[in-house]
Amino acid sequence: MGTIFTQIVEGEIPARIVYEDETTVAFLDANPLAPGHTLVIPKDEYERLNDVPDDVATELYATIHRLVPAVEEAVDADASTVAFNNGEEAGQEVPHVHCHIVPRFEGDGGGPIHGIAGEAPDLADDELDDIADEIESRS
Ligand code: 5GP
Repeated sequence: MGTIFTQIVEGEIPARIVYEDETTVAFLDANPLAPGHTLVIPKDEYERLNDVPDDVATELYATIHRLVPAVEEAVDADASTVAFNNGEEAGQEVPHVHCHIVPRFEGDGGGPIHGIAGEAPDLADDELDDIADEIESRS
């Protein structure tokens, strides 16, 4: 049956589709955080960003790049927050990679992405060096 987003791709449930190509599709979020809140997904089902093949990732970013200005202009937004909840512990509810484009407006009462991760850790320089090395060695 697939995820709810696969059902949208297959036309089995309705959605306000705003863009579609061979690999990706974008549609309005059913519970918008702001007017114009849009989701961009790969048509094929991948749970996390980590699962998306390189060629699909390239297409996905191209669609995001195209949609951000389109969404902002459509609702006369001042800015946008563009983000993925990547994994259940990060708040991902639908296990099908999706990018949120949330239009932002001066004085909208929202916050920056810095507020998402709970209490900030107090990391010493050597810990930061170790973390940087670990990431670099896997990049
Ligand atoms: P997540 O928490 O997984 O990052 O976000 C899932 C998003 O999908 C939510 O913002 C939710 O409102 C949206 N959503 C869930 N079900 C549907 C649906 O059937 N149609 C549309 N258009 N959006 C949905």
